[in-house]
Amino acid sequence: MDLDELYQEVILDHYKRPRGVGLREPFEGESHQVNPTCGDEITLRVHVEGDTVADLSYENVGCSISKASASVLYELVNGANIDDALARLKEFTALMNSRGQGEADEETLEDAVAFTGVSKYPMRVKCALLGWMAFKDALVRAEAVPTPEGGAE
Ligand code: ZN
Repeated sequence: MDLDELYQEVILDHYKRPRGVGLREPFEGESHQVNPTCGDEITLRVHVEGDTVADLSYENVGCSISKASASVLYELVNGANIDDALARLKEFTALMNSRGQGEADEETLEDAVAFTGVSKYPMRVKCALLGWMAFKDALVRAEAVPTPEGGAE
């Protein structure tokens, strides 16, 4: 099995058995994001305790890339320190914006490295980043991170 096949297996596995799916309470921040070019939608909630992402819950519809990416996001940030979660968000965003040139660090990105090949396809990048954008927005709404300049609030 070559690397591309392995990565496809990882994505398919998360698509078929999404980790942490479902909307749960309590939560401090909720975000709804839509990717109209593909028809993906996600509603995502964060529950913050101190400086920890105590729970990340979500409901989504859409393609296998967007759904698998949300599942991987859950695995990477649920229970994580907020600063670590933001570092992973930054790393994954950079990888997705690398146009296939990115070198993924499996130590920090774990299953998210499976999306490396997706970065070659701009349309699919939006699918892969949808849940992560929702996560960032939900953290802002939970007032767990500062509101970015020119933000939605
Ligand atoms: Zn999609």
